[in-house]
Amino acid sequence: MNAPDHKALEKQRLEVNKLDKRLCRLAGQAIGDFGMIADGDRVMVCLSGGKDSYGMLDVLLKLRERAPIAFDIVAVNLDQGHPGFPKHVLPNYLKSLNVPFHIESQDTYSTVKRVIPEGKTMCSLCSRLRRGILYRVAGELGANKIALGHHREDILETFFLNLFFAGNLKSMPPKLASDDGRHVVIRPMAYVRERDLEAYAGVRGFPIIPCDLCGSQDNLQRKQIKSMLHDWDKRFPGRVENIFNSLGRVNASHLLDRSLFDFAAVAATGVPTAGGDTAFDQEDFASFATVPVTLLATAQKADQPQ
Ligand code: SF4
Repeated sequence: MNAPDHKALEKQRLEVNKLDKRLCRLAGQAIGDFGMIADGDRVMVCLSGGKDSYGMLDVLLKLRERAPIAFDIVAVNLDQGHPGFPKHVLPNYLKSLNVPFHIESQDTYSTVKRVIPEGKTMCSLCSRLRRGILYRVAGELGANKIALGHHREDILETFFLNLFFAGNLKSMPPKLASDDGRHVVIRPMAYVRERDLEAYAGVRGFPIIPCDLCGSQDNLQRKQIKSMLHDWDKRFPGRVENIFNSLGRVNASHLLDRSLFDFAAVAATGVPTAGGDTAFDQEDFASFATVPVTLLATAQKADQPQ
């Protein structure tokens, strides 16, 4: 092997190492920030055969090795009966990892095809059926946590979909109680960028199962939002980062939702209020754009009257 090849390989090895560390750090941070996993938990890791869930399983297995707590992992795949679904891929992969797993076969595909008129989007019914089945399986497997592989871009896209098309301010929570009240759903990859998961899938050579087997069209609105975010990311470095960070810094008294803040109770107290009246100030958004978010947060904190 000549010298340049060796250098290139070494560079690649360092990049992969950095990627690996970044994924574990961000997932560990999200798990800690939202109290996702506790000692004695049994976590059902939902695997679709896509890059995100493969990445999540890998990272959770690594984090478990180093965690000061003990928790179980059981991988679950729902075979929804899509034509051409390669049934052998996930069992073979999971056996090779020596991970306990369960494959649940339920033909939701035929139900969805029968109920939804041709040409209409099937995803809403399909995902509702899937959710119900996964909750039942979690109960049968004794899992108290259900881990889904949604990442940072999924959260941002859902935020904008709600903002633009549903007129409300919400996204995908990193942790929530399942609607049957029996489990807690967690999203350990909430802080991880999709492009890192893509790169990781390439490095690890996951046996990806195509996600278009159901024949459903891509959701057009989601596609538009995805491309808008992609465009912003390229043209305005830091913007998408700022938006994502803002989801964790909500100021209910400076929005219009009366159920979150008791505006009726606002009254003059006669004493200065920290973070109170900035109603007549002009926000310096131009300078915000150039300041890294972490510095901005520190500066804003320091600006508050003591
Ligand atoms: S893309 Fe296909 S499998 Fe996925 S939710 Fe939609 S209908 Fe179901």
